[in-house]
Amino acid sequence: MPEDEEDIFSDERENIERPMSRLLGKYAKRYPAPVGVALTANLISPLLGLAPAWLLALAIDGLFTESTPYSLPLVPTAMLPETTAGKMLLTVSLFVSVYALTTVTTWLGSWGWAVFAENVQHDLRTDVYDKMQGLGMEFFSDRQTGELMSVLSSDVNRLEGFLNGWLGQLLNILVQVIGISAIMLATNWQLALVALLPAPLLTVVSYLFVQKVRPMYREARGTFGDLASRLENNLSGIQVVKSFTNETFESSRVEGASQEHKDARWGARRWGIRFGPMLTLINGIGFSLVFLVGGWWVLFGPPLSVFSGSVTVGTVVMFLQYTRQIQGPLTQAGQLLNNFERVKASAERVFVLFDYPVSIPEADEADELEDPRGAVEFDDVSFSYPDGEEALTDVSFDVDPGQTIGLVGPTGSGKSTCMKLLLRFYDVTEGAVEVDGQDVRDVTIRSLRSSIGYVSQEPFLFTGTIRENIAYGLDVTDSEIESVAERANAHGFITDLEDGYETEVGQRGDRLSGGQRQRIAIARVLLRDPEILILDEATSHVDNETEVLIQQSLDELTADRTTFSIAHRLSTVRDADRILVLDDGQIVERGPHDELLDRGGLYANLWRVQVGEVSSLPEEFLEEAAARDRA
Ligand code: ADP
Ligand code: MG
Repeated sequence: MPEDEEDIFSDERENIERPMSRLLGKYAKRYPAPVGVALTANLISPLLGLAPAWLLALAIDGLFTESTPYSLPLVPTAMLPETTAGKMLLTVSLFVSVYALTTVTTWLGSWGWAVFAENVQHDLRTDVYDKMQGLGMEFFSDRQTGELMSVLSSDVNRLEGFLNGWLGQLLNILVQVIGISAIMLATNWQLALVALLPAPLLTVVSYLFVQKVRPMYREARGTFGDLASRLENNLSGIQVVKSFTNETFESSRVEGASQEHKDARWGARRWGIRFGPMLTLINGIGFSLVFLVGGWWVLFGPPLSVFSGSVTVGTVVMFLQYTRQIQGPLTQAGQLLNNFERVKASAERVFVLFDYPVSIPEADEADELEDPRGAVEFDDVSFSYPDGEEALTDVSFDVDPGQTIGLVGPTGSGKSTCMKLLLRFYDVTEGAVEVDGQDVRDVTIRSLRSSIGYVSQEPFLFTGTIRENIAYGLDVTDSEIESVAERANAHGFITDLEDGYETEVGQRGDRLSGGQRQRIAIARVLLRDPEILILDEATSHVDNETEVLIQQSLDELTADRTTFSIAHRLSTVRDADRILVLDDGQIVERGPHDELLDRGGLYANLWRVQVGEVSSLPEEFLEEAAARDRA
């Protein structure tokens, strides 16, 4: 649905004032030369466009019918050629000059706008991306990637389309319409009124047309989305379709979706088919009217008693020419005006982003976290997400450099949230998070985060080679890459791949198993050698055998580093120096594995679940688990 993702920022957009002038103010002055050239060209070229019809009238009246003397404005009669042939050649050379100049100005106009639009599109895209990238995590967690993409792609593209010629076209239309009207009114205001009669109608009809069909096309795109996902769904679930022998059922669902799409499209196309002929009709009526009134006037004098004076053949021909010439711009005007509303919406979205507050501000005098040792302290930390729910309450703990801490607890108990606070993805609501005795809010975000390595449940590989994914922006040698891959237990399988370290992997990382991707992610962190390491359920998506392989690489990773290991499988953390058990945002138990087992509390019960002693679990624990499941 690339065109109608108009929903993102729909509330915030209302606060954006004058987005178009802000856009032009921000970017137009960066490119004064192309903009200046284009504007000048757009002013001159429609003026030149007025000349041919006027020259034609001059030739008819001054040369062919000789009803009026041959004269050019601003040129003294004495300087004009005397012979008819001379006048004819002068007229020809004027025609040629006008067309030659028009060629040049049209070229300059297109060039200027194109240079401007392409540059601004690039600036805008990179500015929007940089701004977006700097926003806090809550900005991203509240929105779909697709919605954010649409600002970067459709909105930026639409603005490019606008900058590339919208203004030029508007100027062109205005100059043409005003120029033609002025010449006609000056020549014969009565005939001019007749010729201009259908003019507003053209603009109104084309404006209304776009207004009418836009929602229809939007609906058609919506139904196409439904149809496409139905088709995709069916093909990817083909095994289920076949095993249930549900082909007939699925065929009729596809047929239904396709029919809806067809109907929606037809609704829009019907109007498209009517629009062109309707314009032709209005244009034809206008043209015939000018011919009737003007022609009558030439032959028999003023056709109605309200008209007075005389009209030449040249004037009628000129009016007919102008009538045709003005029709295109007037139709375009209606469409341009319509376009403006959508472009404005795009500009508003872009400025909502530009104005978006940065939620994790860096202190003005933020220190570098120098030579971090990896001591971590949570001091009475409470935290609520921006949507209000309290996720952590009075969490306090203290970790010495090099220790390994296990974080366990039911889903939603706040384990990941603790780590997000350590990374300063969010700021605490109360209390403080400290690294090496320094509040994380007082050090630079860059130095803080680069001292922390993060391995998540779903390792993310970027589009590119395995090598690029491990290096990830660092300038390192092949042997350094291989050495960390080796330590991460990944070198073996990488060299078994046909292209080795140059194997292309993508977001989907198709060819690699979850465990292999995870080991690449671990190598990436190893290369950075952070003092603090966060493993957020790093092994929960792999089978037991792979876990052993990953566990080996993790042991390599965690040695001599402060490590927080969030784990579902408690066996992963049984060797930790200390285990923190979280429940509902609070630390309810803490201590080493054996001690916690002896206590017989939440940890001991979770342990029983994992070793399969479900029958010996206390009734309350099961009740609480069921309650959590419903929450
Ligand atoms: P865990 O990692 O222990 O499973 P989390 O730290 O992810 O738990 O979540 C703790 C609580 O915070 C849960 O109630 C969860 O719904 C809530 N939460 C997590 N992430 C967000 C978020 N981005 N916005 C709002 N609430 C969130
Ligand atoms: Mg979690």
